Amino acid sequence: MDLFYDSLCELVEDTRRDEPMSRHVTFRTGGPADYFAAPASVRELRAVVTLCREAEKPYFILGNGSNLLVSDKGYRGVVIQVGRALGRVQTAGSLLFAGAGATLASIAARALEAGLTGLEFAAGIPGTVGGAMVMNAGAYDGEMSQVVESVDVLTKFGEEKKLGNKELKLGYRTSCILPMEYIVTGAAFSLRPGDPAAIRAKMDELAARRKEKQPLEFPSAGSTFKRPAGNFAGKLIMEAGLKGFSVGGACVSEKHCGFVVNKGGASSADIMELCRIVKERVREHSGVALELEIRLLGDFS
Ligand SMILES: Cc1cc2nc3c(=O)[nH]c(=O)nc-3n(C[C@H](O)[C@H](O)[C@H](O)COP(=O)(O)OP(=O)(O)OC[C@H]3O[C@@H](n4cnc5c(N)ncnc54)[C@H](O)[C@@H]3O)c2cc1C
Repeated sequence: MDLFYDSLCELVEDTRRDEPMSRHVTFRTGGPADYFAAPASVRELRAVVTLCREAEKPYFILGNGSNLLVSDKGYRGVVIQVGRALGRVQTAGSLLFAGAGATLASIAARALEAGLTGLEFAAGIPGTVGGAMVMNAGAYDGEMSQVVESVDVLTKFGEEKKLGNKELKLGYRTSCILPMEYIVTGAAFSLRPGDPAAIRAKMDELAARRKEKQPLEFPSAGSTFKRPAGNFAGKLIMEAGLKGFSVGGACVSEKHCGFVVNKGGASSADIMELCRIVKERVREHSGVALELEIRLLGDFS
């Protein structure tokens, strides 16, 4: 008998128990979440959060898992996936509206279709709108802060709120969303009319640069460390002699030292240990304290 699970199943059709998180993160590592639910609407999302609060069960909001390392021990709570079911995308004039579960690839494709420029930088970032707003994701001189007009959130008490660009406190890979425990449900982006051929050419150029520079052939979570002020994590890691350095199946990419990759069979513990050694060696070599960009979920002790 698991009354909590029964209640969860009544609210959301796609509900699972002991769900391996390795299926849901781009690192392809991590143990099971006690409960996993993928709500099909904002109404279901609110109901699940309310249930968790009432039952005092911890919960975690998951997007595409592309910036996340989950402990091998898993997570003793409810992973709530804001995914494709909450991923509607539409345009009106030069505004683009997207549900939080829409992928950045899909909003960039929709912008191209509508002849709108501004989201070219986002086309190759493998996250959702929700995850990208939390992280203020960015690439090649573009970032979400430059195009977002407003974000719709649910508070932890289930109230709906609309936050304007300034209220989001967007900084380098940060926003107020996590500290305030908001859940992103959608966002509006303010774009500009552009030439579709030029928009497509820009996206193709950035995709080619990514393919050339990044180890896209291996599971990873993108740049593992934040860019230190006035420097580059990858450069510091290379200078510390760590190119190709590995712990178990986790490895500092030879193609781009800023990426830790899963070369096959890595555990999350391997990745954490590798990150610890990288931080230690870089500090010894250059005096710079690297900080993780990836988010951690679960117990790593
Ligand atoms: C190959 C590769 C390349 C990458 N390149 C880039 C890049 O160029 N630029 C860049 O910025 N990032 C890059 N990333 C990292 C990652 O794609 C981004 O950080 C992305 O924004 C994360 O989105 P996500 O949906 O996967 O979030 P997740 O990894 O699922 O979650 C990240 C955080 O956001 C929270 N979250 C997710 N959705 C919501 C929501 N709806 N409401 C509230 N909180 C939420 C989670 O709780 C977690 O704390 C790359 C990753 C990979 C694997």
